[in-house]
Amino acid sequence: MVLCTGGRNRILNVPGGDLEAIYYLRDLEDAATLSTSLKPGTRLVVVGGGYIGCEIAASATTRGCHVTVLEAMPHILSRALPPRWSDVIAHEHRQKGVQIRISTSVRRFVGDSRVRAVELDDGELLEADAVVVGIGMEPAVELGRSLELKVDGGILVDEAGRTSRPRVFASGDVTIQPDVWTGSGFRRLESFQNAQEQSDSVAAAILDQELPKRPAPWFWSDQYELNIQTAGVVEGGDDVVVRGSVEDGNFCAFHIRHGRLVGTFAINRGRDVRVAMRMMESGVAVVPAELADTSNDLRRVVARQT
Ligand SMILES: Cc1cc2nc3c(=O)[nH]c(=O)nc-3n(C[C@H](O)[C@H](O)[C@H](O)COP(=O)(O)OP(=O)(O)OC[C@H]3O[C@@H](n4cnc5c(N)ncnc54)[C@H](O)[C@@H]3O)c2cc1C
Repeated sequence: MVLCTGGRNRILNVPGGDLEAIYYLRDLEDAATLSTSLKPGTRLVVVGGGYIGCEIAASATTRGCHVTVLEAMPHILSRALPPRWSDVIAHEHRQKGVQIRISTSVRRFVGDSRVRAVELDDGELLEADAVVVGIGMEPAVELGRSLELKVDGGILVDEAGRTSRPRVFASGDVTIQPDVWTGSGFRRLESFQNAQEQSDSVAAAILDQELPKRPAPWFWSDQYELNIQTAGVVEGGDDVVVRGSVEDGNFCAFHIRHGRLVGTFAINRGRDVRVAMRMMESGVAVVPAELADTSNDLRRVVARQT
């Protein structure tokens, strides 16, 4: 048996949470419903400055809505990116007119049958015609629990997707798996790439075949004219080499630990990310100056270094 039950949206449990025009985004139907309310001039409050909140903010702003993003942490996208890079994205949103309120949470929603305002934790009232809540998801572990599988923030699996019970596997968003990339701890990954690659491993294990090599975790997001991509793991303490121009919104940042590439963050430079992934997967020592020099063809650099 393979459990691929994914997850469901985390619900914001505050008074007024059941008012009309408070939306969550999970499936196509949710997207269609939300879309009808994003008309020019709509005052939209987005609760949560993660990738989904940021993508909604970008789409709504492009449609002419007045958007405020409320983020509980001191930076948006803090689960995925160090402040150096999340600030680049926050800057773009502000340039486009989005109000970003950091270290801010919601006390309650106010309205009649429909939401009219959002009351913040300091008592301030923000008028709103619509609200979207994007505060993450919770893995759907109930079936796993009923089978008495080990569950700890997700169904616990090994590198092959094996659960704590023989012949029961799990894959995708519902699992928490060994962090093969950094080599320490466990991680729950929420991406198409992970769901697909992890399922390949599960299939191989069931067929008693050698497990395929897992590529570096990779994620993308499109916001305004920015194509944002990350691969591997990018953290604040890494040595960082930038190829291209951060100011012009066209760069690839290489995160290096102990002389090896461990992650990349790129804006409008997806091709560099693809090459960098090969470099990460091979684990070769990198020469920072060669990565930074845009006159060097990165593919040639990789060919030399791998
Ligand atoms: C709005 C949104 C945007 C996203 N954007 C991106 C993106 O740009 N890039 C990216 O890589 N990832 C993105 N993701 C994440 C991506 O969708 C997930 O990582 C991926 O779908 C996980 O696949 P999965 O099969 O594990 O789970 P899911 O796709 O959630 O599928 C699980 C399925 O199991 C069903 N199910 C649950 N319980 C049961 C049960 N008991 N019996 C039968 N069926 C059950 C569910 O209804 C669901 O259909 C996004 C997610 C959301 C919500």
